[in-house]
Amino acid sequence: GTGTPLLQVSNVEVIYNSVILVLKGVSLAVPKGGITALLGGNGAGKSTTLKSISNLLRSERGEVTKGRITYRGEQIYGLNPSDLVSRGVIQVMEGRHCFEHLTVEENLMTGSYTRKASRGDIDADLEMVYTYFPRLKERRRSQAGYTSGGEQQMLAIGRALMSRPETILLDEPSMGLAPQLVEEIFNIVKSLNEEQGATFLLAEQNTNVALRFAHYGYILESGRVVMDGPAADLRENPDVKEFYLGMS
Ligand code: ATP
Repeated sequence: GTGTPLLQVSNVEVIYNSVILVLKGVSLAVPKGGITALLGGNGAGKSTTLKSISNLLRSERGEVTKGRITYRGEQIYGLNPSDLVSRGVIQVMEGRHCFEHLTVEENLMTGSYTRKASRGDIDADLEMVYTYFPRLKERRRSQAGYTSGGEQQMLAIGRALMSRPETILLDEPSMGLAPQLVEEIFNIVKSLNEEQGATFLLAEQNTNVALRFAHYGYILESGRVVMDGPAADLRENPDVKEFYLGMS
């Protein structure tokens, strides 16, 4: 058997503004060491699912009204983001959110959450991030606000890595990026998964690229999982081909 998944979302319902039912009982399982993709069109509920895990709904007047979310078998719903980080879970939000007036390296350092990290530990983590993102090393003294969209996406992931996470929730990494950069980002995700053992749950509208890099996928439509399976099977599925892959 495969045992308990690292992260499990069971029958989760989310309501915004006390009235708008957006997730209608979503269940998914994220195995340790995997890349799991959450797919679906605009407004399907991908971001909401990630935010229900990372507890970022409250600031948007959203609430989990049903279901369970567990990490290593323990209920995590309601933990604040820093408690989640100390358990090994971090979310990289859609839209990047760097500190524009800080340098690239200063931005990365804001990600070393653990108070007890020594300067030596932080330097080692910076080197690890620069190994995966050589572009960030080249740009380390630049003000983040002046870097490109692709570099800011790299910075957002790099900053998350500074907390040495076990699981990274990645919202729409391809958003607004040229195809070649999307490919570059996904290749780095793959290396981090294979070499560092990082577990990923990523939300993507770009089904094509996501199913090439992920191991398993869930397709959301109007707040429900309508299909799931190994990425290789989904790529060959006629409905997925017609509705999600065939358009480009
Ligand atoms: P996208 O790629 O556009 O972000 P998504 O699949 O991530 O799509 P969500 O952002 O989770 O979708 O949105 C799901 C639904 O919830 C949409 O209909 C959206 O309009 C609605 N929604 C999202 N945030 C809020 C909010 N703060 N208040 C009310 N409705 C919201």
